Amino acid sequence: MAEKIFGVVGDPVAHSLSPGMHNAAFAELKLEAEYRRFPVTAEGLPDFFRRLRDGEISGVNVTVPHKQAVIPFLDELSEEARVIGAVNTVVAENGKLTGHNTDGAGYLKSLFSEFTLNMGEVYVVLIGAGGAALAVAHALAGTGVASLEIVNRDKGRAGNLVARLQVEHPNAHFPTGSFADLGRICEDADLVVNATSLGMEGKDWPDLSFVAELPGHAIVSDVVYVPKETGLLKAASNRGLKVHYGCGMLLHQAARAFELFTGKKAPVDVMEKTLTRTL
Ligand code: NDP
Repeated sequence: MAEKIFGVVGDPVAHSLSPGMHNAAFAELKLEAEYRRFPVTAEGLPDFFRRLRDGEISGVNVTVPHKQAVIPFLDELSEEARVIGAVNTVVAENGKLTGHNTDGAGYLKSLFSEFTLNMGEVYVVLIGAGGAALAVAHALAGTGVASLEIVNRDKGRAGNLVARLQVEHPNAHFPTGSFADLGRICEDADLVVNATSLGMEGKDWPDLSFVAELPGHAIVSDVVYVPKETGLLKAASNRGLKVHYGCGMLLHQAARAFELFTGKKAPVDVMEKTLTRTL
């Protein structure tokens, strides 16, 4: 049987942690497949997608800056990818290309594997309104959370996110707030999720005083995974709050993508070991 080629396409992809996780999973299941890095610029996308359509490459994960730009090259979108308007996984089958987005499902899987929550009673404050925030917001809104408030620096972008959520939840109200009010907004929060790039290496939070306003039972969750323990999570831990690391979302979005690529159950333990070793 010919070896199947999968990979991650983006610009850049040199630091992607996906090859390690997927190749470990292929080896564990003894699949004749290989996962590679494909550094491709925007100009290179038409040629690259021809290779998928021709069957040379069987599937890819899509990372920055192409998550939206790839959509015109696809034949079909999953429900999540359509609502989110971004694709992180493309499956090629008999010349047909289908786009998926596994980020939101990966986030929920990770959250629920660590915490038992009655979502109908949970007040969520989501910080951010970019691609990751939209995927997480869409997933959380689908669980029927009691409240989902969006805080973002650019208010217009927060409004766009809410407008997208309301396509699926026309009767729900999603309040928006500003960074200046974060302390007050956090007073009633059960779950705070950072889905901005703040806290990444070299990008410190200008102000973490809102952490002091959270109730003692709150969970603080971060989608940023480098470093594993972000400034936000450190501040939350120091206060004795429960924390949820971004690497869980990374693991489970990859596991879901693996299942879409192969039709087989992902060996999550093996993928997690590889990820932990490389992080
Ligand atoms: P986007 O560029 O789409 O969005 C960036 C977000 O960060 C926006 O809300 C932006 O606010 C905000 N932001 C950036 N700089 C600042 C700042 N100085 N002050 C306040 N807000 C700021 O990026 P993504 O959504 O794709 O990615 C965000 C993070 O999520 C990244 O760190 C990425 O690595 C991580 N991620 C993690 C995943 C995982 O599996 N754990 C999966 C996908 C992403 P504004 O709109 O005002 O510019």
